[in-house]
Amino acid sequence: MSSRAIFLDRDGTINTDKDYLYRISDFEFIPGCTEALRALTNAGYRLIIISNQSGIARGYYTEADYLALDEWLKNTLRAQGIELTATYYCPHLPDAPVERYRMTCTCRKPAIGLYEKAIREWDIDPSLSYAIGDRMRDLEICKSTGCRGFLLNTTEPEAIIDDVKKGIYPDIRYAADLSEAASVILASPVWDPAQSHS
Ligand SMILES: [Mg+2]
Ligand SMILES: [Zn+2]
Repeated sequence: MSSRAIFLDRDGTINTDKDYLYRISDFEFIPGCTEALRALTNAGYRLIIISNQSGIARGYYTEADYLALDEWLKNTLRAQGIELTATYYCPHLPDAPVERYRMTCTCRKPAIGLYEKAIREWDIDPSLSYAIGDRMRDLEICKSTGCRGFLLNTTEPEAIIDDVKKGIYPDIRYAADLSEAASVILASPVWDPAQSHS
């Protein structure tokens, strides 16, 4: 049976966005985040982080730095009963100073290459799933699949947030933070394919 997932942006969604964060000591969970992740896990959602990491292409930190923080994040959450199914990242940039990452790829959000990869690798049904992020580029998957999404807080200009609040994108809603998005998701009836023939 296909699984349902929460596609999570990282910086600005799980942790406070500090430009090009890579040090564990700089990582700060946004209040309510771990409780929300635990509730979503308990409700049967796979948690999948998809993040742009152009700091690698810019030479601000290395892929090894990113992976060390990623490993720390997984272990920290696991110690609190929260299992991340997978994390995916894009290290590229079309005009990257670091030559090996200089490319126009299909994985840098708003491109949806990493979402498509996750959907394949974990047999995810997008129509049972949600994307959550603080930028519209985190929600592109909602425009081409049945995935629904939440735009968080005030990173985007007010005009874009207003459009979301007006319902211009039928599958994208506004929420103050991950905690609020999780509450709305958990209050929504879950479509269970196993029940659909009864
Ligand atoms: Mg973000
Ligand atoms: Zn990429």
